Parts: sequence; structure tokens; C-alpha cells
Amino acid sequence: MTRYVFITGGVVSSLGKGIAAAALGALLQARGYRVRLRKFDPYLNVDPGTMSPYQHGEVFVTEDGAETDLDLGHYERFTGVATSRADSWSAGKIYWRVITRERRGDYLGATVQVIPHVTDAIKEAMREEVGDADIVLCEIGGTVGDIESLPFLEAIRQFGLEMPAGHVAYVHVTLVPWIPSAGELKTKPTQHSVRELRAIGIQPDVLLCRCDRPIPDAARRKIALQCSVREDAVIPALDCRTIYEVPLTYHEVGLDHAVLRALGLPAEEAPDLARWHEVVHRILKPETRVKIAIVGKYTNLADSYKSLQEALIHGGIANNTRVEIEWVDAEAFAGEVPDERLQEVHAVLVPGGFGERGVEGKLAAVTYAREKGLPFLGICFGMQLACIEVARHLAGLEGASSTEFGACEHPVVGLLTEWEKGGELVRRTGADDLGGTMRLGAYPCVIAPGSLAERIYGTRLIHERHRHRYEVNVNYRPLLERAGLRFSGMSPDGRLPEIVELTTHPWFIGVQFHPEFKSRPFDPHPLFAAFVRAALEQSRLV
Ligand code: GLN
Repeated sequence: MTRYVFITGGVVSSLGKGIAAAALGALLQARGYRVRLRKFDPYLNVDPGTMSPYQHGEVFVTEDGAETDLDLGHYERFTGVATSRADSWSAGKIYWRVITRERRGDYLGATVQVIPHVTDAIKEAMREEVGDADIVLCEIGGTVGDIESLPFLEAIRQFGLEMPAGHVAYVHVTLVPWIPSAGELKTKPTQHSVRELRAIGIQPDVLLCRCDRPIPDAARRKIALQCSVREDAVIPALDCRTIYEVPLTYHEVGLDHAVLRALGLPAEEAPDLARWHEVVHRILKPETRVKIAIVGKYTNLADSYKSLQEALIHGGIANNTRVEIEWVDAEAFAGEVPDERLQEVHAVLVPGGFGERGVEGKLAAVTYAREKGLPFLGICFGMQLACIEVARHLAGLEGASSTEFGACEHPVVGLLTEWEKGGELVRRTGADDLGGTMRLGAYPCVIAPGSLAERIYGTRLIHERHRHRYEVNVNYRPLLERAGLRFSGMSPDGRLPEIVELTTHPWFIGVQFHPEFKSRPFDPHPLFAAFVRAALEQSRLV
């Protein structure tokens, strides 16, 4: 029978609960268990697709096209297991289900209530589509004590009662702060947070205590006693040098051991952590360094490009190189030639984005990389802008633009109105809702023989994840190709441009999809590995 681990958070947010959950997943996997990770978020948005990246960080996209919380990115990167729509739940999505059922009359005249109807829907979401997983890890977003989290906590309390003994473990992530004026670590916030959990009826089995320094045994004993948790299940969780060191560090302090014991599973044999040692070694002891500029709009909040940042680190792992990211705010140099900021870098990346703000700066960055022969990678919006740049400056179409910014003389990028998904035609108009209506998830792409893309991927058919409403207008293909832009990847029906590359440039490529979502530390994405390699070659030239 499938076992469950519930991960809650206390005291404050941003304790790295998502990474802790992902790392625990990786540790259980390294012991031979099939794991599945799932996120439950208490906010009312149906999904984070409509939330600003400033508010919520990156929107992670799954193979089956769900727009999800960025923690799902951590889950995939740490376990290599692809997530799906069934692994991302918000209160909004749960309520939507309950209200749809109520409208259909499914509740047969009952008064629909948080308990049992909402809590039942939450438990149902925890149970469905878990496949052949031995252990399902469910992370509950938010902090214990929030009003919004209550239905989720109530649901996991009930869940524990409904399962056979030893099939559910509760892990609570808390903070043990250092108070400089007292020169002491304080256990009180942890005690209060656990008291709050126990008031709801949940007794944690394991406490993962985030702390900026070692926790003395006396403090651990105090936490254990006050919180009624076994002493060896009070796990000190210190900061790591890289997030990929977290599985190793948490294993050393006994996290997986404590969880397995709570689940009644054997924990004596050591897990095989060789791949994590290798990844960490390559990150901490790189042979070389490269500097890559990311020219974007949300550059002051690295969380908005989480997967991208990680994929670049993975590209570095593939090349034994440390990738230093130079965040360049596109708006800061709109209208100017961006040479000062870009002079020091070995490659330029223009990532995904929405809306007109910062576009001129991003276009200037494309021009710079193109003219200087710097390796260039354009992702989604970045690819669309690369096409506009080439249209304007190499194909003589001065009025080239995207209809995303309003009507224009040459709509080189236009609204996507029709495409095929799994043999069926999807249709959209400009009047559709904004939520969940983009071209989302994995689609096939056919790569042209003899192209840079073919050399990078080493294959002619790939599947990559998408998240966009606009597309490069295939009617401009002949004109752009004459200007030197090769359409080296297309949708199988030949209608949607997926990859473009500049034949007159050493390494200039734009992709309509988001390769960053599929990169793993132990399996770096070929496009990022090749991009970092190109940057490395560039660094040797200067
Ligand atoms: N704004 C563009 C579109 O909707 C690009 C989206 C993106 O970069 N993810 O097509």
C-alpha cells in the first residue's frame, strides 16, 4: 500500500520547504523507493498561471500542460520524475471541483461544507493518480497558523486516521533563530508552531529545524521534550553551499532515517548517493568560469527565472564550469546600445516574458549578440524577439513587431489561433479568458537535418514544454530565411516554427519552447550544455 509523507511549515515562510521535500524525495528514491511529490497551496487562484512572477516566482509547466508552483520544478530536478496536473493543487482548484459538483447536484441536497466536502476533495486529490509510487510526499504550502491552511491541515489529520498505522508520516519544517543580543538559539518559535499543529490534532513525527548554525544537543533535547518528538527525529537543517548538497547534508543528519522509521520501513542500509556527490563536486570545484547575461524584465527577483537559473547551473555541470549570471534589466537600457553591461559577458540569453515593457532593450541585446558573434539563446519570447530583430535589421522590415504589443505593419509574431494537440484542433481568439488558455505543455518538434539544433540534440524528433499565446508567423519564413534565419525546428504539420538559428553566426539559436523545465542536475539539458560550451569557447577567444 502507498505510504504518505506530509510536509508542513511553521514559524515563517521561505524556509526552503520545497527543496526539503524534494531532497527527501531524492533520498527515499536513492533507497530504492518509487516516489511522487505533490504540492497543495492554500491560495484561491485556480493555478499560479495568472499570478505575477513578482508575487509568486516562476510558473512551472508540466508535460501535460499544467501551470504550477515552482516547487514542482524542484521535485522534478531532484527526482527526475516528471510531474503532472495531478501534482499541483490550490485551494481554488479544490473549491472549483467542489462547486462544480454542487452545481451538478452531486451532493444530493446536503449543505456543502468545508468539513467534510472540501476536506474530502483534498484527500481525494492526495490519492488520485499516484501511479505505482511507494511513497507520496505531499507538501502543504503556507505556514501553520494561517487561516487558509486550515482545511489542508484538517485533511491531512483525517488522512492519517484513515490509513493503517505506520503508513503516514508528518514532517514539520521550522526555524530555530539565533538571537544575537542574547547570543542564543531560540527554540520557542518551534515549540509554538508544534503546539499549533497539535491543537489541530497533528503530532509531527519529524522536525526539520532550519538554523544558521549547529544546534547544540541540549537545545535538541529541549525541542524533543517540549514537542513530544523523538530526539533523533529532531533534525538540524543548516544552510548548504548549493541546493544540490541538501540531500547529502540531510541524509547525514538523519532525515531519511527518521522518516523511514516513522513509516515502519527498514532504514539500516545506506542509500546510494553517488550521483549527488558527483553533482556537488562539479558545482563546488569547477575548472573554469563563464559569464552569461540574462536580459529580462523580472531580473530583480531571481525566483521568476528559477528553472532557467538551475538549467544554466546544469549546463555548467556538463562542462565543469561555473556559470556566473549577469542579470541585466532590459528596461534599464531601452533605447540605448547596451554595450557597457554586456561587454564582460561570454553569452547572452533572452528568456521568456510577456508584454511590451523592456522589449526595446531586449531587442538591443539581440542586436549586440548578433553583431558581436556572441553565443545567443532566445527562449520563447526571446525567440520571438530574435525573429523581430532579424526581420527589422537583416530583412529590411522596419515595421516588424508582435501583435502582442498592438497592430503593426509586419506581424512577424502573431496571436496563435489554431494548433493541434493529441490529434485534435485547439482554437483560440483574442477574447478568451487569460487563465490556462495558452499553448501549454509538451509538443513534438521535428528538427532539420544538418542544423545546429540537430547537432545539439543528436536526434530529429524532440518533445519540449510550451507556454505562449503568440507564435512566429510562418508566412514570413521565406523572407527571414533569405535574411539568413534558418527555421530548423517545426511542429510536425510544418505550421508552427519551434527553432530558428542564424546561419551566418557561430551560435545563435531561438526556441519557442522552454527547455529549462526539463533539465536535471544529473542529466543537463543538451541545449544548456551546448550553450554553456559555446560561452566557454567564447571566453577562450577573449
Ligand atoms: N509573450 C509571449 C507569448 O505569449 C511569450 C511567452 C513566453 O515567453 N513564455 O507568446
